Amino acid sequence: MRQKSPSPANLELFTGVEPPPQRVELPSVDELYRMYGIYNREYFDNRLPPVKISYSRRMMAAGGYYPTQREIRISTRYHHHFPDEVYDTLKHEMIHVTNFRHDAAFKCTARRIGASVRANDHPSLHKQPRFVYVCPRCFTEYPRVKRLRMASCGRCSGKKFDERFKLVLKQSFKKPVEP
Ligand SMILES: [Zn+2]
Ligand SMILES: [Zn+2]
Repeated sequence: MRQKSPSPANLELFTGVEPPPQRVELPSVDELYRMYGIYNREYFDNRLPPVKISYSRRMMAAGGYYPTQREIRISTRYHHHFPDEVYDTLKHEMIHVTNFRHDAAFKCTARRIGASVRANDHPSLHKQPRFVYVCPRCFTEYPRVKRLRMASCGRCSGKKFDERFKLVLKQSFKKPVEP
């Protein structure tokens, strides 16, 4: 099981906070189409119809299949946190092209092709940051779900808490925000 949480808030106490994830390169849409073709041949005997594939910036879940548009959408936000799951998501959504629900047949196919079986829902970034902290020196911002007590900037203070670079609360939200 992969670690789902990039940095649990309680581990941040008294330690340098990991800098927020950097922009990561995700595969191009062309590359996703290419992999769709390869998986279709390898795992589905070329039985899947051609579909549209796109990235979605707004989607909180990892991905989705939209049958009326015949479109697989892959979430950029989710995969900026978990870039190595892109192809897993693609495979999972490919099963949905012929199988809308996570039923027994879905799970059977998922096991066969090595895609995730997600019993309840697609994993998503449900936890939206409610607090935004900022480093007083380098101004790196740290959005967090929970309040931080003693945390300093990971870029400026390294592994140990350093009072000089203690993160300052910049903004807080009553409710999780959807940027
Ligand atoms: Zn699914
Ligand atoms: Zn800093």
